Amino acid sequence: MFHAQIPFDRIPHQFKSGLLCRSSQSEKDGLKKADADPSVKAVMICGENGKFSAGADIRGFSSPKRHGVALSPIVSLIESSEKPVVAAIEGVALGGGLEVALGCHYRVAHAKARMGLPEVTIGLLPGAEGTQRLPRLIGVPAALDMITTGKHIPATEALKLGLVDEIVEENTIEAAIRLANKVIGQPLEPRRLSLKPVPKLPNMEAFLREALVKVKRQARGCLAPELCVQAVRAATERPFAEGVRRERELFGLLLSSGQAQALQYAFFAERAVRRWAAPGGASWSSAAPQPVRKAAVIGLGTMGRGIVTSLVKANIPVVALEQDLEYLNKGRKAVMLLLEREAMKMEGGAQTLDFHNPARLQFTVDFDLLCDVDLVIEAVFENMALKKEIFHKLSKICKPGALLCTNTSALNIDEIASATNRPQQVIGTHFFSPAHVMRLLEIIYGRHTSPTAIATAMQLAKALKKVGVVVGNCFGFVGNRMMFPYVQQAVFLLEEGSRPEAVDQVLEDFGFKIGPFRMSDLAGLDVGWRSRKEQGLTGPSLAAGTPARQRHGQRYSPLPDLLCEQGRFGQKTGKGWYQYERAGGRTATPDPWLHDFLSQYRDTHGIQSRFIDQEEILERCLFSLINEGFAILAEGIASGPEHLDVIYINGYGWPKHRGGPMFYASTVGLPRVLAKLQKYSEAHPDVPGLRPNAFLKKLVAVRSPPLKEWMSYLSHQSPKL
Ligand code: NAD
Repeated sequence: MFHAQIPFDRIPHQFKSGLLCRSSQSEKDGLKKADADPSVKAVMICGENGKFSAGADIRGFSSPKRHGVALSPIVSLIESSEKPVVAAIEGVALGGGLEVALGCHYRVAHAKARMGLPEVTIGLLPGAEGTQRLPRLIGVPAALDMITTGKHIPATEALKLGLVDEIVEENTIEAAIRLANKVIGQPLEPRRLSLKPVPKLPNMEAFLREALVKVKRQARGCLAPELCVQAVRAATERPFAEGVRRERELFGLLLSSGQAQALQYAFFAERAVRRWAAPGGASWSSAAPQPVRKAAVIGLGTMGRGIVTSLVKANIPVVALEQDLEYLNKGRKAVMLLLEREAMKMEGGAQTLDFHNPARLQFTVDFDLLCDVDLVIEAVFENMALKKEIFHKLSKICKPGALLCTNTSALNIDEIASATNRPQQVIGTHFFSPAHVMRLLEIIYGRHTSPTAIATAMQLAKALKKVGVVVGNCFGFVGNRMMFPYVQQAVFLLEEGSRPEAVDQVLEDFGFKIGPFRMSDLAGLDVGWRSRKEQGLTGPSLAAGTPARQRHGQRYSPLPDLLCEQGRFGQKTGKGWYQYERAGGRTATPDPWLHDFLSQYRDTHGIQSRFIDQEEILERCLFSLINEGFAILAEGIASGPEHLDVIYINGYGWPKHRGGPMFYASTVGLPRVLAKLQKYSEAHPDVPGLRPNAFLKKLVAVRSPPLKEWMSYLSHQSPKL
């Protein structure tokens, strides 16, 4: 029996390193030829290099002509073949690759293969009839789950769902040929998915309605998941051809929405930041990381617990150290709880993590046990004197090559390094809370930090499945530094007449996970209060006679300090900018006490309360944050706008479908951002955060070039780079 074995380069698409690309007309004839040749009895489609297909190259999506829809005729051609077509799925079948497999009459997968329709993650939907065929094959609930989340499923799950007919441990191609042999002569009609009805649910309408509500809630303004639901709904309500037309319509909408471009930008930005550069020409291409075989974490508070958990999950043995036995026991309990929860989510559970084994996780109060670790992460209180004392101790105890990392949120890395005998091995590794969940790792190099130290920290980020972003040293680094003016504007808006819930609502509608006041209540108002006291902005060290609403000649709001003086620290005390059901409660409700307090405050300071509209709230908060971003770029604290965007998307809940703050600025238009900043700055001349940065002005003066060209307009290379 003769079979045509057709890799993608013989049918309309060709394979290049697992990517599905467009190809020439002559290649499109491959399948037709196989169909016409009477000696061919069946067709098997496979990939190359052990991969069926990783889907379309998303760079192609920037051109409207090159999107998934172009694949549809091929999928139809496969499905309508008069000879059985079997897909041999090895490695991955993603996006267009899986849609091709859905056009086949049978699917055989290797046990290690993964399948998925990840288009939603780049702001699109499976546009080659995937939203119409998948529900017909595996039913609406499972198809919706795959299509709206973009998740990759293992072959074992695909078999359970009926997505594949068979899984094999050995040679997939041979198994597919065996299956093809077996089915020759069997009717193909029942195997053509476009002819199958979508399996019915007793309550389809209610199910789809609920699914829509759920994805809308999770999507926070991102269109793709919602339109995916609409496309699947079309599969349930319309004949196949009409469903396909609806799918195309919705695909077109997404393509022109701007969100797909933002999400694709975010996708490439995350890759771009892996190629880090630092002073003196050190970069990702020349620096090699040191192995991290054992690590230590100092301080098991909010951050240390998550960091230990993250390291254990990455299979790195950890020594966890606290200041005394009482704190140690508290920390140990908290870490164990986190690890147990994590283990429950994993296949193999606690055994896989092996955290009860002291060789993998050891708790101690004895610094001498840190003598053989390769890397230490310090996460003690945010206090310079304490951090210096710890680093001094570490440089005496740790082995010569050990990397010394600090999790400080804002403090000067060089000053911390000055307490050691090895400043070249001191680096900031700024985790975000909860540290075992948040993907961002801001990596801060100091004046003396070596390229090896940076490369090792980047390697650590990768091992922890985080996104490492390398930045320079300044107060608050990139993320928190941009956050300061944003939060400052939010508080000024309260002084002028707004309310926490109004400000939060505008920013949450924009797409932030939580607004600045909910965020402040969650993190604890006392954290910033302590820092402001240390900086002499409030508390006993404030010079007598300092005006209540001014510091160093600039506008200052004492509102957060006043709340702290009342013991309103946020969720932990049950009261902050909102009130909560109890101390530690999570449900924020607007607090009439706070509203009265704000009115009295305005009366005391002679502030005329006014109505502040949504546009002003959004622009003052976001444009001041973006303005600080331009200052950071101009100073060379980050090597490009992508760095700032990746930090904001992964560490600060910035909506990904808006591409990060700097990308957002480019979509709003730099002239508009500049004009609005100028307007607000004139109204508030004592607020430096609203004064347009010179780099922004320059970019507007040179007619707002595309974001990827911004850095070439810096007149000098900053000494920091
Ligand atoms: P925390 O107060 O929750 O915990 C600090 C821990 O350090 C405490 O358990 C304390 O006992 C321990 N500690 C203090 N002195 C010690 C010593 N000499 N030896 C060993 N342990 C000691 O603080 P946190 O919120 O986890 O913050 C830790 C660091 O991380 C700070 O620098 C903070 O700025 C930074 N950070 C915090 C967050 C956040 O959201 N909480 C986010 C990013 C970075």
